[in-house]
Amino acid sequence: MNTTTSYEIDLVKANTSKINSVDFENLTFGRVFTDHMFVCDFKDGRWQKPQIMPYQAMTFEPSARVFHYGQAVFEGMKAYKDDNGKVFLFRPEQNFERINKSAARMAIPEFPKEYFFKGLETLLNLDTEWIKPGLDNSLYLRPFVIATEPAISASPAEEYRFMIICSPAKAYYNEPVRVLFAEKFSRSADGGVGFAKAAGNYGAQFYPTSLAQKKGFQQIIWTDASTHDYLEEAGTMNIFFRIGDTLITAPNNDRILDGVTRKSVIQLAKDLNIDCEVRRVSVKEIKDAAMDGSLKEIFGAGTAAVISPVSAFEHAGDVFEIPVTNDSYATLFKSTLLNIQHNLADDKHGWRYEVK
Ligand SMILES: *Cc1c(COP(=O)(O)O)cnc(C)c1O
Repeated sequence: MNTTTSYEIDLVKANTSKINSVDFENLTFGRVFTDHMFVCDFKDGRWQKPQIMPYQAMTFEPSARVFHYGQAVFEGMKAYKDDNGKVFLFRPEQNFERINKSAARMAIPEFPKEYFFKGLETLLNLDTEWIKPGLDNSLYLRPFVIATEPAISASPAEEYRFMIICSPAKAYYNEPVRVLFAEKFSRSADGGVGFAKAAGNYGAQFYPTSLAQKKGFQQIIWTDASTHDYLEEAGTMNIFFRIGDTLITAPNNDRILDGVTRKSVIQLAKDLNIDCEVRRVSVKEIKDAAMDGSLKEIFGAGTAAVISPVSAFEHAGDVFEIPVTNDSYATLFKSTLLNIQHNLADDKHGWRYEVK
């Protein structure tokens, strides 16, 4: 038994920081990266000693399996800084567990918990200047794993690279989105990989989403692949419907990504005495509610945008505009979540994780 496992990280610091060249007031999501990144290779049957090094381009052989068979999974999480300079993650153990669930589905070896947390913390301490305080600011963290083994036979790789890169983000003050309910295309199917944060789930959405965008709808709400009668999720966000004063969201299954924001909204609804039903929700029910005026809101929930209101939807040629409500649940959940994340509100469920 190996009892001397240590979680040391080899550290090479950047000679100079890029931070002064970054306009933190005008950031486009996911374009600018911090000075350092975390890298850990899997080979000879085990994860090797992790490294933190300057953010830089990397070389891979053209035969690296990820390019051919899409063996790749990722996570999306954020770090927040309060006005006293303390840095927090939000429910990071959920992301850790999820990346390993995603990895297992893609035949990728699980990553050790100690490396994941020590990697994140070391990186965040090194690049702490990149985390700006204030409700508008966060540092988006992207852990991911790719199959690097140079061999194009169609089988799982024996070599992988786990990395974490970090990108400063401004709050999305995006306009409410118009969405299309899927009638033909599907994002995922029974027994498939919809529950995994697998890179290919995104790639497969781009074409149908581009068609929707041509019709004036920014996103698609995916329906169940077999009947297209039930609404499932938005493909980068989970989805909530408000009929009257009741929230409804689809139950998790193997087609739907088990979002941390979704489960936090369900818990907050309980805390706020808002009825929240986790059950199948049909396209017909939502169209009927839109017609009789009881559909008050639709919103997406996910780490990047937190809560994203929907202003209209289309299905089978029918377009429904959703009137603005003045007691919006979307606004309430967004501010409640942001306040917890930024250490401005009580954290009675222990969701904040302080990075020391
Ligand atoms: C990441 C993701 C979400 C949102 O999950 P969070 O943990 O809340 O960020 C929802 N759906 C899909 C398909 C996703 O990849």
